[in-house]
Amino acid sequence: MAGQHWEAVAVEGLNRAYAAASPQELLAWAVAQKIQFGLASSFGAEDVVLADMLARVKPNGTVLMLDTLRLHTETYGVVDATRARYPQLDLRVYYPDMAALDSFVSTQGYNAFYQSMDNRKACCGVRKVEPLARALAGLDAWVTGMRRDQGTTRTDIAHFEIDDVHGGMLKLNPLAAWSSDQVWEYIRANDVPYNPLHDVGFPSIGCAPCTRAVAPGEDPRAGRWWWELDPDAKECGIHIGYDAAGNAVVQRISKA
Ligand code: SF4
Repeated sequence: MAGQHWEAVAVEGLNRAYAAASPQELLAWAVAQKIQFGLASSFGAEDVVLADMLARVKPNGTVLMLDTLRLHTETYGVVDATRARYPQLDLRVYYPDMAALDSFVSTQGYNAFYQSMDNRKACCGVRKVEPLARALAGLDAWVTGMRRDQGTTRTDIAHFEIDDVHGGMLKLNPLAAWSSDQVWEYIRANDVPYNPLHDVGFPSIGCAPCTRAVAPGEDPRAGRWWWELDPDAKECGIHIGYDAAGNAVVQRISKA
């Protein structure tokens, strides 16, 4: 079932009206609209902040997790800690389609992502992109933890966007204007459970075989698919769609 469709002019107006809004105010806006929305969470620092904020404005709010079956043990640990801390949150876990995954692994191999960008995108497609489409089906909006200073692919994200990759639903980025320091101040001030890999140099955490620690001062996304040299390609297809030729198709963004 399709969710609510959003008009560009309305979303541009929201960006103007809420340009200076706090993340909490943006989540409260979503609750007040009585729209169906979910927080897409990889349980990184930004996502655990948003889960804490969501639990305060909507205790039974929906959190969407994609279990790629290749996550770090530490990530599963913070998922369990989050469940324990916020038992009322509606945590929905989506797994890859096992037939599609079996077909991919049996023909390309378990570690095919190291061989080519096409294989990497195909793996992300099976383990992340298709499950996310299932997770978002029927929702009016989704919430992400994306911030503008996370890397070259994210410098111009807005608080409110129309997600053309997922049928024109609303995409809400409450932390778009926040810095990493603000994220960590919030985690410490509120004793939010977080992934301990952040303490050993992982600013951005994805699947275990595709994430490594970065050096101080390095691009925060540099540890993702580190063997790929193009910084503008460090997205998995969740936030940037790919056309049939494998070229990135950036969704329309309604700037503030
Ligand atoms: S991040 Fe790596 S293991 Fe995870 S889905 Fe993408 S290519 Fe596959």
